[in-house]
Amino acid sequence: MRIHEYQARQLLADAGIAVPPGAMVQNIDDAVAQAKAILNGGAPMVVVKAQVHAGGRGKAGFVKVVRTAEEVREAAAFMLSHRMISPQTPPEGLEVKRLLVAAGVEIAKEYYLAVAVDRARRTATLIASAEGGVEIEAVAERNPAAILKEPLHPLAGLQPYQARKLAYALGFSGRQVGQAADIMQRLTRVFHNTDASLVEINPLVVTPPTEAHPDGQVLAIDAKFSFDDNALFRQKRIAEMFDPTEENPAELRANAAGLSYVALDGNIGCLVNGAGLAMSTMDIIKLHGGEPANFLDVGGSASEEAVTEAFRIILADTAVKGVLVNIFGGIMQCDRIARAISSAAKEVGFQVPLVVRLEGTNVDAARAILEEARKEIPSMQSASDLTDAAKRVCAAVA
Ligand code: GDP
Ligand code: MN
Repeated sequence: MRIHEYQARQLLADAGIAVPPGAMVQNIDDAVAQAKAILNGGAPMVVVKAQVHAGGRGKAGFVKVVRTAEEVREAAAFMLSHRMISPQTPPEGLEVKRLLVAAGVEIAKEYYLAVAVDRARRTATLIASAEGGVEIEAVAERNPAAILKEPLHPLAGLQPYQARKLAYALGFSGRQVGQAADIMQRLTRVFHNTDASLVEINPLVVTPPTEAHPDGQVLAIDAKFSFDDNALFRQKRIAEMFDPTEENPAELRANAAGLSYVALDGNIGCLVNGAGLAMSTMDIIKLHGGEPANFLDVGGSASEEAVTEAFRIILADTAVKGVLVNIFGGIMQCDRIARAISSAAKEVGFQVPLVVRLEGTNVDAARAILEEARKEIPSMQSASDLTDAAKRVCAAVA
């Protein structure tokens, strides 16, 4: 699960990491009011930032640093009326419904700091770079040596010496070393305590020296968090941050029915039982030149109603030009799938070719049910095995 930047900043602030103050707003007037409060409070600048579950906002023009309330009005009006398109969004972009209006800061230097799971090392890892900011992806590609990593001990976490070593390696000096090391310690603790899969501060900034802060201040001015869905049951506060409006509607609907569904870009709708079988079904579709429209695992214990809902979701996708049902009935009974096909045919209708491959528990009963339903599904073909099924559905959509 992902959350918005304004929520992530709150988690950072609660963990004792310095974050400039700000508030989430949903309309232009509130953005202006918030900006006036920030400017009256003595901040030299205001930053207006689109709150969507995608990065690359700065380059897309959806992070604006301005100095007057009037400019905040313009920035807010633009962002709330344009879709944001970046390399991290779908091609059609994302609608912006929320903005963060925060105090802007002067920046002397930008750093990158994150904790992520390093699967090769099988542990969480602190990742840092002195070349933070909007070019971090390019840095990682062109100059991987500029990305520093410290693995975290699974029980002891980040050791103080590791944090200091990283802080020096990043080029911090004077009082900044202690501040940066402290932020690293706190960030690894937030990662652990919230069952996160990624916590990222990009950029972490140092402000120019002032009278009040002769060594500058180390501040987090952007934050991105993702969490392990399997831990949400014990992370009530995090779970409450869920914003359903940022999710794919078909995926939400499938979730509610207890189905594992991931929307994809192709045109062959897939209904399969078991994640492994679903993956191999997608592979074999690709092998025969087709493109899956989704990953869908109905699992072993899905009810007839849940499977019917799965067909409703697949058939509601206008990109779907053919459907492949691939069931290897172990715990799942084939006749339950057959009955769901029959109800979906009556209720929604299969306007597109349907290829069915069924094997396993109650397969004879299932075949009888499908035979009975054949009149309602003239586009249905039975396949003898998985290869035959993939060939048939790919030919049907070609
Ligand atoms: P992202 O592009 O989606 O990662 O959005 P960020 O919040 O990281 O902002 C992008 C860039 O805008 C940052 O790398 C900064 O260079 C700049 N920026 C963001 N907030 C401020 C601010 O308060 N002051 C200044 N001077 N620049 C900022
Ligand atoms: Mn950023």
